[in-house]
Amino acid sequence: MHKGFNRSLELFAEAQQYIPGGVNSPVRAFKAVGGQPVFFVRGQGSKIYDVDGNEYIDYVGSWGPLILGHCHPAVTEALHKWVDLGTSFGAPTELETRLARMVIERVPSVEMVRMVNSGTEATMSALRLARAYTGRNKIVKFEGCYHGHADSLLIKAGSGALTLGVPTSPGVPVNIASNTITARFNDLAMLEEIFALEGKDIAAVIIEPVPGNMGVVPPQPGYLEGVRELTRRYGTLLIFDEVMTGFRVDYHCAQGLFNIEPDLTCFGKVIGGGLPVGAYGGKKEIMSMVAPAGPVYQAGTLSGNPLAMAAGIATLEQLTPVAYEELERKSARLAEGMARAAKEAGLELTQNRVGSMVCTFFTSQPVVDFQSASTSDTQAFALFFQEMLKRGVYLAPSQFEAAFVSLAHTEEDIDRTIAAAAESFRIVKE
Ligand code: PLP
Repeated sequence: MHKGFNRSLELFAEAQQYIPGGVNSPVRAFKAVGGQPVFFVRGQGSKIYDVDGNEYIDYVGSWGPLILGHCHPAVTEALHKWVDLGTSFGAPTELETRLARMVIERVPSVEMVRMVNSGTEATMSALRLARAYTGRNKIVKFEGCYHGHADSLLIKAGSGALTLGVPTSPGVPVNIASNTITARFNDLAMLEEIFALEGKDIAAVIIEPVPGNMGVVPPQPGYLEGVRELTRRYGTLLIFDEVMTGFRVDYHCAQGLFNIEPDLTCFGKVIGGGLPVGAYGGKKEIMSMVAPAGPVYQAGTLSGNPLAMAAGIATLEQLTPVAYEELERKSARLAEGMARAAKEAGLELTQNRVGSMVCTFFTSQPVVDFQSASTSDTQAFALFFQEMLKRGVYLAPSQFEAAFVSLAHTEEDIDRTIAAAAESFRIVKE
């Protein structure tokens, strides 16, 4: 029996007095699903525990980093060790080289890597580097892809005009937006058209190889190959934003899964094992332009922080190729079970999955881009979300997010989730 949300409600009321909207990142406020956010006190394995004493099976996993689940003993032990040795030196440690080497060994396109503190910093810095390397200003991004909140990435397509970006937030200057072109994911013809018009001025194409910020959208066969070929032809750098997919979908990341070599790659989430980390990397020739090796400035007081590096190393050490096979099995079981439960309830839904990124769209259309994702019935999703919450399953509070399966999820967790989904789908259908 769910014990209600009384203490969470009190804490949220208090938080709203001191923190804008009561949260430190907007999606946490539950605006997309109604109701109020749940406040948590503890996580262990696949479970999280709220301030009212409720237990949930967690599919948010801190938005992706916790691929081993909460408080994995290897991560906790590494953190304890470093807490006692020093939390930050602002000077080099061997840990930074170790984590960099682990990334480089697993990702063939990456020969050098720079650690930063978030995914946002990684994409922002990769763009600066791409602009410096090519001597060009324009960039291309894709509608529905999210790359953090740097000015030049908070842009959507302008109506009609291919080339004029529009800021998605007040405070982003229009002249910055004018350098960002927005294309449609999985639509190579549109990208070819953009390059025919502007190709010689485009420094970089930045893409989530598997978008996970409009729900989960797999790239269609040949699409990423086409993007690679086109960018190479025009001397434009291809940046894979693997902040979400990096070490999530495959031992060699999405680029290994699809066998594509980008010029630069952005990381975050999993490589920090639950601590604040991002990174960007690529070929030596490009990365050597970053200061102090080269002239492109980028820095950070806490970059390469020993606690964050230790958590990242401990996490990657657990992520053997065999671990990804286990994740794949569990994720397939979840996705297939959810799809079956929806069908039995008489709902026609679309289930997308790549590795341990799973998404149930409340639409019967195939979801291949932002437009098709937008046909989802978000009110039906909101009801489904609330019913799952009451049954002890914590999903991301928005239709347009992935559910992340972790190594800590047991088959029993997954079967309980499917049973809860079966009941919740029936309520949505009523
Ligand atoms: N890129 C992608 C693909 C992401 O999913 C995110 C965050 O969800 C970011 C970049 C931004 O990362 P951060 O929130 O660490 O700044």
